[in-house]
Amino acid sequence: MSAGLKGIRVAVIGGDDRELYLIAELQKLGAYIVGVGFEKAAVPGVHIASLKEAVTQVDVLIFPMYGTDERGVIKAKYTDSQIMLNKEILQAIPAHVPLFIGWARPALKSAAEMMGIRIVETANMNETAILNSIPSAEGAIQMAMENTVITIHNSESFVLGLGRCGWTIARMLQGIGARVTGVARKGTDLARATEMGFRAVHFSDLEDEIGRAEIIFNTVPSLILDRVMLERVARDAVIIDLASIPGGVDYEYAQMLGIKALLAPGLPGIVAPKTAGKILAHVYPQLILRHLTTVKPSMES
Ligand code: NAP
Repeated sequence: MSAGLKGIRVAVIGGDDRELYLIAELQKLGAYIVGVGFEKAAVPGVHIASLKEAVTQVDVLIFPMYGTDERGVIKAKYTDSQIMLNKEILQAIPAHVPLFIGWARPALKSAAEMMGIRIVETANMNETAILNSIPSAEGAIQMAMENTVITIHNSESFVLGLGRCGWTIARMLQGIGARVTGVARKGTDLARATEMGFRAVHFSDLEDEIGRAEIIFNTVPSLILDRVMLERVARDAVIIDLASIPGGVDYEYAQMLGIKALLAPGLPGIVAPKTAGKILAHVYPQLILRHLTTVKPSMES
């Protein structure tokens, strides 16, 4: 990857350790970094600013992968101040400045659309999601190891949903010697699962099959493990739910039945911040160049 960013001013706003690796890589490519929410990180060469100052000083805005909360607050590990993406800030963003963010809430998307701001959501892009599936799968398997009394080897492991995360989890489980069942609704996915040596089960048959599972990895962002399904799950099975919040499990009912079910959001940043940061650093330079319509002259540092 050799995308040069010389002269491009990038605001990196909030986030965690991933952003520290991202900043270093962007700097190597020649970008001038304005950091919002990094007062406690002491990152060399970064101009620290408030969000209000930053939005008028840069060519590109990068918000964290997990986006904002419902009030517009941005999580930032390296500051004690609150960073808020509100209407006032949105109004100050020039139209030519793209706003990159992992996930944008519907309210943010519609406000941005009304104001003519270009929002680019990055978490769901294949190039990000496939690479992120690696630390996610490792983290999920690590959680399974920590929360079971059996080895993954020889376990009956079910993977619900064969998308970008599901395939990676299933393949890694197979590599450790698990007996893997891949559950999907598309014939092509089931055929591929068979080809890869997994037991292939259609979601319509899951109710009859789920009782075999010792470990269940859910990647489907819908209520898949509802009351009916949970009734069939072995009481000593462990569920690791990767699906975005609120997950795909009726947690209250699982608890009532005594089934251990764990929602596991944000695994890449937790289990492998350096790798996850390098993934961002791999993806962002190309995205920045693709989405920059106006590159302003370099800011003297
Ligand atoms: P993906 O590639 O879109 O895969 C989702 C899978 O779920 C697809 O195979 C899809 O099947 C299936 N699916 C969706 N709705 C379904 C339904 N109602 N019934 C049956 N199957 C259904 O997504 P991904 O990148 O793997 O991510 C999966 C989830 O994990 C997302 O919620 C994502 O936000 C989350 N995630 C979490 C972490 C973490 O750290 N916990 C990390 C990465 C991603 P079809 O192809 O048939 O639609």
